[in-house]
Amino acid sequence: METQTQTTVDRHRRIILFPLPYQGHVNPMLQLANLLYSKGFNITIFHTNFNKPKTSNYPHFTFKFILDNDPHDERYCNLPLHGMGAFSRVLLFNQFGADELRHQLELELSKKDEPSVSCLITDALWHFAQPVAVSLNLPRLVLRTSSLFCFLVYASLPLLNDRGYLDHSNDITTPLLDGLGYQHLSDNNHLEEQVMEFPMLKVKDIIKMGFKKANDVVGDVIGNMVKRTKASSGIIWNSFKGLEEPELETVVREISAPSFLIPFPKHFTASSSSLHEQDRTFFPWLDQQPPKSVVYVSFGSVSQLNEKHFLEMVHGLVDSKQSFLWVVRPGFVDGSTWLEALPDGLMGERGRIVKWAPQQEVLAHKAIGAFWTHSGWNSTFESVCEGVPMICSPFWGDQPLNARYTSDVLKVGVYLENGWKREEITNAIRRVMVDEEIRERVKILKQKLDVSLIKGGSSYESVQSLVAYISSL
Ligand code: UDP
Repeated sequence: METQTQTTVDRHRRIILFPLPYQGHVNPMLQLANLLYSKGFNITIFHTNFNKPKTSNYPHFTFKFILDNDPHDERYCNLPLHGMGAFSRVLLFNQFGADELRHQLELELSKKDEPSVSCLITDALWHFAQPVAVSLNLPRLVLRTSSLFCFLVYASLPLLNDRGYLDHSNDITTPLLDGLGYQHLSDNNHLEEQVMEFPMLKVKDIIKMGFKKANDVVGDVIGNMVKRTKASSGIIWNSFKGLEEPELETVVREISAPSFLIPFPKHFTASSSSLHEQDRTFFPWLDQQPPKSVVYVSFGSVSQLNEKHFLEMVHGLVDSKQSFLWVVRPGFVDGSTWLEALPDGLMGERGRIVKWAPQQEVLAHKAIGAFWTHSGWNSTFESVCEGVPMICSPFWGDQPLNARYTSDVLKVGVYLENGWKREEITNAIRRVMVDEEIRERVKILKQKLDVSLIKGGSSYESVQSLVAYISSL
């Protein structure tokens, strides 16, 4: 892992980076910022006050807080913090943020005593930044924090809608998003059918993304994200060629903006950009566990479960009789502050529960044998980077796509596609802990990734070409 940063170079080019203010987006953007800094660029980070990262971890960057400096602005008060509603800020800032972003960029561009700005790099979901950048004649690259496969599916949503794949979403996604689960999806044979345009997907995978059929504001953001990512000056992906080769071919064929696939967790850990305090007290316990004996359980930074399904989780985990390390964020169980729903004495001595962990470090630990994940892209990719097989329980958005890709394409995990049933959970955990084929495949994938980082390898070359490309702008 590259941890050195150059400190003696003359930083005469500056890059402004603007992440989406959520953990799964801040992490790869700050990893990218560190990487570009290590290549000699001067770094300015634009960020909202909401979810601001710990700036003292980045004394080498300049931070500027924008868009929500007025605490009385009612548009941004009292917005949800968990579940799909957590992304309502993204919709609002995309709607109202353009004038302020333009103003802030103009200020930066006019600074005579600072290095000149080469480009703006924003999260792909900040689609409002594209017309702003164009109006200032400033090249905008995007960081897309999910997989190439997900982008291609999102780009096909209008087509999938026309073909009727989203027809059931209005009836099904509401109970799904309310946390009632999707067991009933399997009662409908149509939902088990293959999606012609993406044969690895079932119809229910499309529906589980949670996009309603018509006039959906989320669908609108996705549509604009796709359109303006294609119009950008370049796309940076947190991935590597050997993971998504067919998808990369399609992206290169269909999008004129150059693509750069960079496996960020292999360059820098995400610890310094953690928005929550990381518990490290369990490491002495983890150090004592036999190799590959512990299941790490974590469902990312915003997912939320109802109490009934939480209890299925608890029983599934306990009945598997495996040791576990489980991250339960405060707010994860709907209606609870933390662990009120946990039955007394059930967990025994087999596991540890923490509020937040240094995930990459945990996944790299020799005692970890499997990762039960919500299939967020960072979590999925971090698991691949450490060669850890997965049990996938996706919630919404790109997660059902990542889960299907993990289990059916890469074949490095088991997808719990029928929701929260304790027996299925127990079986999946036991299977992943002992299935030699799954374990071997993820090991080979990790080795492929490690080789790609060596000079001449695809990931190594991708970093080189990104640096050369930005330098040429
Ligand atoms: N993460 C962490 N500690 C935890 C849980 C998660 O550091 O206890 C990090 C994890 O390493 C990943 C990010 O939070 O980088 C979650 O991103 P992901 O895309 O997996 O899911 P999201 O939170 O966006 O749903």
